[in-house]
Amino acid sequence: MYVNQQIILDNRPTGEASLSNFKFIETKTPELQDGHVLVQHHFLSLDPYMRGRMNDSKSYTQPQALGQVMIGGTVGEVVESKHPNFTIGDKVVGMGGWQLYNVFDANIVGALQKVDTTHIEISHFLGAVGMPGVTAWYGLVKIIQAKAGQTVTVSAASGAVGSAFGALAKARGLRVVGFAGGKDKCDYVVKELGFDACIDYKEHEDYVSLSKAIQEVCPNGIDGHFENVGGMVLDAVMLRTNAFARFAVCGMIAGYNGNPIPMKNPALILMNRMMVEGFIVSEHLDIWPEALQELGALVASKKLNPRQTIAHGLEQAPEAFLGLLKGKNFGKQLVKLI
Ligand code: NDP
Repeated sequence: MYVNQQIILDNRPTGEASLSNFKFIETKTPELQDGHVLVQHHFLSLDPYMRGRMNDSKSYTQPQALGQVMIGGTVGEVVESKHPNFTIGDKVVGMGGWQLYNVFDANIVGALQKVDTTHIEISHFLGAVGMPGVTAWYGLVKIIQAKAGQTVTVSAASGAVGSAFGALAKARGLRVVGFAGGKDKCDYVVKELGFDACIDYKEHEDYVSLSKAIQEVCPNGIDGHFENVGGMVLDAVMLRTNAFARFAVCGMIAGYNGNPIPMKNPALILMNRMMVEGFIVSEHLDIWPEALQELGALVASKKLNPRQTIAHGLEQAPEAFLGLLKGKNFGKQLVKLI
């Protein structure tokens, strides 16, 4: 038995989420049953979707239950196993939650996956070679479907999803332009991720000013867009789209704390005959192996060297998570637990 630290959802936020929504507790790991595996987590992934789960409102999935360990992706190492496919020392990824240890029922298909850390750092299996990377892949390959030479754009470009999107787009011979908050993030997007350009949206007072800046770096217009944020960037991009542009609507983080995010010119969807498609990556499990193979090759070959922001210790998770919802992270937000 091990002493387990956990963070549970204690109460639901009204408006902005706060530290008081979470509670830190200590328990002991249970005795293992047949088919179960005990994993010690090395990293916890913090992701924007968790904010939606904290609400008890209509969504694409069930809300996070009160009094239960917060949901979250984890990577770690098997420390006890009563399942023939897993042995002590195996590196694994799963949805272990905001805690130091988790017992997985390894008989559930897909609950626990072994990962090969020979050429890829274990933490990347929560980012570029994990759910965020596959999200970028799905939006680019299955929805936007741009052809070499065309121009695509992405908001929150320095983040976990945005950075993978840029690497995948460049590998396909596309012109890719990002949007990010601040000079440091934009410099990183261009100089380290290899985007053709990045616009600091915070330098613009409104979407009209931003759309003029887009015109300069997208002289041939925009053929495809990957939306992570909603609001001003989306409005500005819509003004610069070409006819039959394709939009992958992945996230609307600007509204996750309850702020309304109205669209200024929805008529442009009609005038530009745009195709706008929202998606949830966990509903497309069939494409994960292909996507992970391509993403793994990009990271292993260092063509994609994703940045990470790492908080240290489980007790730091709530604050790091609230920072993520305000853009304080720079790249994939993780919590190191060991
Ligand atoms: P990021 O690592 O990109 O972090 C979030 C970034 O969003 C911040 O760094 C910040 O970037 C920007 N941001 C945060 N708060 C706000 C705000 N209030 N207004 C404007 N911008 C804000 O996160 P991910 O890459 O993990 O996720 C990106 C998006 O993808 C999210 O919307 C997420 O919900 C979505 N997603 C959707 C999935 C799906 O299946 N549909 C799966 C995975 C993710 P900056 O400082 O540059 O503004």
